Amino acid sequence: MINFKELATTYKTPLYIYDLDYMTKQYEELKEAFKGKKSILAYAIKSNSNLSVIKHFATLGSGADCVSIGEVRRAFLAGVPSYKIIFSGVGKSDDEIREAIESDILYINVESEAELGRVELIAKELGAVCRISIRVNPNIDPLTHPYISTGLHDNKFGVEIDAAKRMYIKANNSEHLDPVGIHFHIGSQLTELKPIYESAVIVADLVRSLSNIKIELKFFDIGGGLGVVYKNETTIKPYDYAQAILGALKGLDLTIICEPGRFLTANGGYFLTKVLYEKQNGSKRFVVVDGAMNDLLRPSLYKAYHKIEAITNSTTDESEADVVGPVCESGDFFAKNYSLPILEHNDLLVIHSAGAYGFGMGSNYNTRGRSAEVAIKGGEARVIRKREEFEDLIALEKDFLVK
Ligand SMILES: *Cc1c(COP(=O)(O)O)cnc(C)c1O
Repeated sequence: MINFKELATTYKTPLYIYDLDYMTKQYEELKEAFKGKKSILAYAIKSNSNLSVIKHFATLGSGADCVSIGEVRRAFLAGVPSYKIIFSGVGKSDDEIREAIESDILYINVESEAELGRVELIAKELGAVCRISIRVNPNIDPLTHPYISTGLHDNKFGVEIDAAKRMYIKANNSEHLDPVGIHFHIGSQLTELKPIYESAVIVADLVRSLSNIKIELKFFDIGGGLGVVYKNETTIKPYDYAQAILGALKGLDLTIICEPGRFLTANGGYFLTKVLYEKQNGSKRFVVVDGAMNDLLRPSLYKAYHKIEAITNSTTDESEADVVGPVCESGDFFAKNYSLPILEHNDLLVIHSAGAYGFGMGSNYNTRGRSAEVAIKGGEARVIRKREEFEDLIALEKDFLVK
């Protein structure tokens, strides 16, 4: 049991809290599901990019899936070995590609024919051979929120099967490219196994047809996307997930790369915020708290549901309220019509499932410093990122004032 009250007293609010022991459990369960097969879990850093969180997974043996060169640098700093680092993303700059090649990471995930051309050119300039994987878009509806769906032709991600095949042939004929992997990632917060299985079958077929023309791949990268429980979702069991992938691979001897983000971090994180006031506008009740959309954007961005737990001595009946922050936007809320007792100044609200796509999506909007982050490991809490102060927010401006 996490003592939120004590943490609020010690570290102040708003505050992110990460239970690293929970994250270990999630990692081990997923790793175990692929037991007996060659596999690498490459933690998707964007879900929670705090260096200590990355380091924690690296210590467990995890690799890293990165979507910017900044994330690649974080992975290195946190001790992830180069041969377990993957660089994905639909738009990589020349500088990013160059640094990725020079860093000798496992492979670059290429997402278009044009990008393949850039990677080849830059590898040639460097006199290098770049390992690549191609992100295939299997055109399967992942049955998740449209903002986090990525595997349909309508989405900007990946290339069609036919284009992928052409690209593999081109890469295979190039002195500066080494096609080693194939990749798909059809969306996030996936709760249905069928689209994953169907995608894996399509992609495995491409692997076989490439093998027929003597292009032998080593890595079968199934992306991330495993869903978690925010409210009452039925989720995919890691064991069933692994079995589906292995079923699609039938007979193919490839190292499976999995890029979990949310599955590892979401439910290991809590966002702790303090009640400032209750407020009533006509019949509408608001609970105003000290955290805001600049700390945790998911409710505003996706209307995402987060469970809220009140820590209070209040014994009043529950009634519905909107939980809102101080930012000057009507979209600044954590919940709408959420049942809560009447709360007092300084009562605490624990916003659950905040470990993934929480802090990282934060901003300084309204000149609000980002919250501190605290990690709990073996029952011990420690700060893993200091709270941002006003001075931090103006540091890059104050010496550049217009005359
Ligand atoms: C975002 C992303 C992931 C992680 O997604 P989750 O839903 O957090 O597991 C994995 N791979 C790629 C390429 C991604 O873009």
